[in-house]
Amino acid sequence: MTEAGAVQDGLEVKGVGHAFGDRRVLEDVSLQVGTREILCLLGPSGCGKTTLLRLIAGLEDLQQGSILVDGETLADPSFSIPPERRSMCLLFQDFALFPHLTVLENVTFGLSHLTEDERQKRAREVLDQVGMLGYAESYPHVLSGGEQQRIALARARAPRPRLFLLDEPFSNLDVRLRSQLRDLVLHVLKQSAASTLIVTHDPEEAMFLGDRIAVMRDGRIVQQGAPEELYKAPADAFVAGLFSEVNRIPGVVAEGQVETGMGRVMAPGIANGTAVEVFVRPESVFIVAEGEGARTAKVLTSRMLGQSSLVHLAVPGEDGQELHLHVRVQGGDRPGENSVVGVRIDPPRAFVFPLEEDD
Ligand code: ATP
Repeated sequence: MTEAGAVQDGLEVKGVGHAFGDRRVLEDVSLQVGTREILCLLGPSGCGKTTLLRLIAGLEDLQQGSILVDGETLADPSFSIPPERRSMCLLFQDFALFPHLTVLENVTFGLSHLTEDERQKRAREVLDQVGMLGYAESYPHVLSGGEQQRIALARARAPRPRLFLLDEPFSNLDVRLRSQLRDLVLHVLKQSAASTLIVTHDPEEAMFLGDRIAVMRDGRIVQQGAPEELYKAPADAFVAGLFSEVNRIPGVVAEGQVETGMGRVMAPGIANGTAVEVFVRPESVFIVAEGEGARTAKVLTSRMLGQSSLVHLAVPGEDGQELHLHVRVQGGDRPGENSVVGVRIDPPRAFVFPLEEDD
C-alpha cells in the first residue's frame, strides 16, 4: 500500500472494472508492479486477463478505476493517453519481425527519436545482450524461431520502455524452445528499468518468471504475492490447488480444529460443524513407523519421478471412506507395493477450506 500522496514507482492499476455490454468481466482489480519487477497475472481461460492487459495498453477504453505509471495517469474514465505514447512494449504470442529488414534494421526501427549513431549503438548493445550481435546483417528468414524471438526481445527493449506487457508469450513454442526463451526473457527483463506484466494460464510459468503473482478468477484478483507466499499460504482452495497437486482430506471442524486421523489441523475462523477439506501437498505427508499418532496405510503403488518418488497410499478415512493419498519421498527409497506403513501429515503445512459446493 502506498501512503496517501506518495508517488508509486512503476505500474499501478486501481479499482478497475470492465463490462462488455451487460456482461461484467473485471471487478475492482487493483495491482502494482514496481520498477524492475515482473508480475505474472495468472488465471484460467476467460477470467479477464487479456482484457486487463488491453486496458493497460490503451487498446480498450477504461470504464472504471485508473491506471498510472510512475505516478502519471495513463487512463481513467475521462482521460486516456493513446497507446503509442504510453512508453510501453506489447509482446504477444507471435514475436514477429519485419521480414524485409535486416536484424539490425528491425531493432533500430523503433528508435527514430535518436540520431543515426545513437540508434546503431543502442541496437548493437541490445543485440549483444541477447547474444545475437553476430547476426546484425542477416534477414529474419535465415534464423531459427528461437533466434527470431531473441531479436524481437532486443527490439522490444531498445527504446527503453517503462512498461512491458506480455500476453501468453510462449504458448506457440515447443517445450525446449519455450524453456530457453523463458530463461532469456527473465534475465533480459530483469535488467530493464521497467515494470513487466506477463499474462499466463500456466502456474509453473508464473512461478518461474514472476517476482510476484496475481491470481485472477472470474474477473477478480483472488490473491497476490510472492510465489512462495501463494504456495505456503494460499487464500482459498482454488489457489491451493494451482501450484501443485494436493491431497484433499474431508473433515468437520470441532473447536477450531479438524481431526484427520493423521494429525490435527487448526481451522482458524471456521465455525464449528462446518464441512471442510484439509489440503495437504504430497511433500507434507510422511511415511513413518506405525503407531504413535500415525494412521496405518497400505501402499498401492509407487513411481520413481526423477529426484523424488510418488507413493500412492490407501488410508481408512475418519468418515469410514477410504482415502487415496499421494506422498512424495526423496530419492528412490520407497516402500514396496502392498506393504503396510504408518502415515502422518505435517499440520502446520496443511490448509483448511470450507467445502465448496461446485468442487
Ligand atoms: P484467455 O486466457 O482464454 O485469453 P482471458 O483470461 O485472457 O482468457 P479475456 O480474453 O480477457 O480472458 O476475456 C474475458 C471475458 O470477456 C471472456 O468471457 C470473453 O469472451 C469476453 N470478451 C473479451 N473480449 C470481448 C469483446 N471484445 N467483446 C465481448 N466480450 C469479450
